[in-house]
Amino acid sequence: MKKKDYMGYSNRIAHVDLERRRVEFEELNRSSIRKWGGGSGLASSRLYDELTPQTDPLGSESVVWITGGPMTGTVAPSSGRLSVVNKSAVNGLLGHSNTGGKFGARLKHAGLDGVVLRGISENPVYLLVKPDGIEFRNASHLWGKDIWETEDKIGTELNDPGLKRIKIMAIGPAGEKQVLFACPINERYHAAARGGAGAVWGSKKIKAIVVDSKNAPPFVSQDFQNAAIRATKKIKNNTTCQNYRRYGSSNVSDYWDEIGCFSGKNYQFGSLPRWRETRGTKQMKSFVTRSEGSCYRCPMPCFNQVEVTEGKYKGLKITSGTFVQSVIAFGAKCGLESLPAIWKCKEICHRLGMDFDSASGVIAFAMELFEKQLLTLNDTDGLPLTWGNETAVMKLLWKIAHRQGLGEVLAKGSVRASKELGLGTAPYVMAIKGLEMISSDVRSAPRGWSLGSLTNSRGGDNLPGSHMKGDSLPALHLLQPKNRAEWEAFSDKFVSELDMFENIKTAIYGNPPLVNPFTYRGKAMMTRWFEDLLYGVSALGLCTFPADKLALGPTTYADLLSAYLGEEITPQEYMEIGERIFNIQRLFVIREGISRKDDTWPDRFFKEKLPQGPAQGGEVVSRETIEWVLDEYYDARGWEKSSGRPSLKTLGRLGLV
Ligand code: SF4
Repeated sequence: MKKKDYMGYSNRIAHVDLERRRVEFEELNRSSIRKWGGGSGLASSRLYDELTPQTDPLGSESVVWITGGPMTGTVAPSSGRLSVVNKSAVNGLLGHSNTGGKFGARLKHAGLDGVVLRGISENPVYLLVKPDGIEFRNASHLWGKDIWETEDKIGTELNDPGLKRIKIMAIGPAGEKQVLFACPINERYHAAARGGAGAVWGSKKIKAIVVDSKNAPPFVSQDFQNAAIRATKKIKNNTTCQNYRRYGSSNVSDYWDEIGCFSGKNYQFGSLPRWRETRGTKQMKSFVTRSEGSCYRCPMPCFNQVEVTEGKYKGLKITSGTFVQSVIAFGAKCGLESLPAIWKCKEICHRLGMDFDSASGVIAFAMELFEKQLLTLNDTDGLPLTWGNETAVMKLLWKIAHRQGLGEVLAKGSVRASKELGLGTAPYVMAIKGLEMISSDVRSAPRGWSLGSLTNSRGGDNLPGSHMKGDSLPALHLLQPKNRAEWEAFSDKFVSELDMFENIKTAIYGNPPLVNPFTYRGKAMMTRWFEDLLYGVSALGLCTFPADKLALGPTTYADLLSAYLGEEITPQEYMEIGERIFNIQRLFVIREGISRKDDTWPDRFFKEKLPQGPAQGGEVVSRETIEWVLDEYYDARGWEKSSGRPSLKTLGRLGLV
């Protein structure tokens, strides 16, 4: 394999000083890619070096990285991914989010891996990125417009009304008003959702980044082309990936219903009446009209369009409607029964530029306060915040984005809102480390999924790390003594097909292996494995779904990275990249004051049994159990058990001291 000095035509970062309107370019070298993968890994390490606990996420010293990885926009499969990394406006920890579409690829084709924003512009501005440079453009006339209006207006101004040539990432009114969970969105539907980057953009008065480039993807090498073909074939031959193609994650809707682990009515109920008839998999699929394409160069395009053809929301068309996340967010947390209403809420969030997981979380929190009479109509500007009241939810979304009435308090997120609202409201905050939780109830969810929500450096969700299929849900139907032989046979086949080191397989599943989503045994190592695997994938600029669906593992990523760099990277070395990123992010949050005591769920899960549904009357989460699981997890990570801090030995091994 021939070692290369020059990798494609990018590996270049633009550092933009918004105050002085200056741009400096930094060339990345192979050692930073070898160490950090690039993208979110490099950004996390630089923010660790540059920021301090005193840095105000919304102040002039704050910094945002908007960056693809080395493979973004190349021939590698699913290579349209881009990360946004900043000190989180929501909880002051490390905000890191990942978005798809074609924006990241076009940025690469314009000659940049990423853009780093510093300082505060005097007036609203947008950046126009072209292969020959970056222009600062006045955005005063765009301030106040929602994201879709902004895209349309810029498209018209740049003679591309159909937005075929240019791609735009922008903030909406929520970002401008510095709603703490505001987010930038590119190409209408692709959100860099969690961590409040939209508020940070708003504080810097940057409305949008526009890329105008139709250059061809970089040619890296023939070795890399061949590795990309091998990886693409694996995705195309994987049944789970291909099933994902047209209907996204809609199957999860029925799975979660079967288990009873919805976040129903602010996590009071794991199950909701008439779920399948109103919001189940079949219902979601019935609205799909067409496949909506994919992110850049994806062999498992998972976007589709749902269209509402009758009723109050007739004419509503939404991309990626069958992604179950938004259906659970508004359908379960806030109790909305109508899919069209749920999709309308999603559209509102996309237009106003808000993370719908936090937005639905903070509204569900307010709805429970209303139920418990801790908020009255006087406090809600006359909005009856009853469960399932779609009109009230939509109005409140608008109020939050514009910081009006109750929206002013809720715009700060549920932890701060609770402090402001006062005594008696804290038990209803469903957040981890200050960030609203997503999706599922840990009292009844698969245990790997649940543990991942505790260990994430950004707070209450596990999407970037342990969004895993390792807790195979098809095993669900076999977990009974009468099926023992089938269960064992299934486990044997499932585990034998995993691209996973043998000692890790044994640590997770035992020997002989037995797949069991509902035990915490082995879940510490499972969580660590998938975190390392997926953090590496994101840092390369690739989508995590092929790895999450178990189509690709460290062998393939090491193969791709070896070909990219022109030097051999072993699967172990590849996994170490993800591990290094995970550890630098942990160091970041430890420095901000996080410790073992914060790796915990809201009290509700330890105190209240689920009152109805398949998990009805089931045990609450035992604090004792969580303590030993955390001990195991810290052991697996090489972290100190008392503090949850990476040990010096671990940091030394990873080259972080
Ligand atoms: S799997 Fe879906 S989200 Fe991932 S790159 Fe492909 S289209 Fe985008």
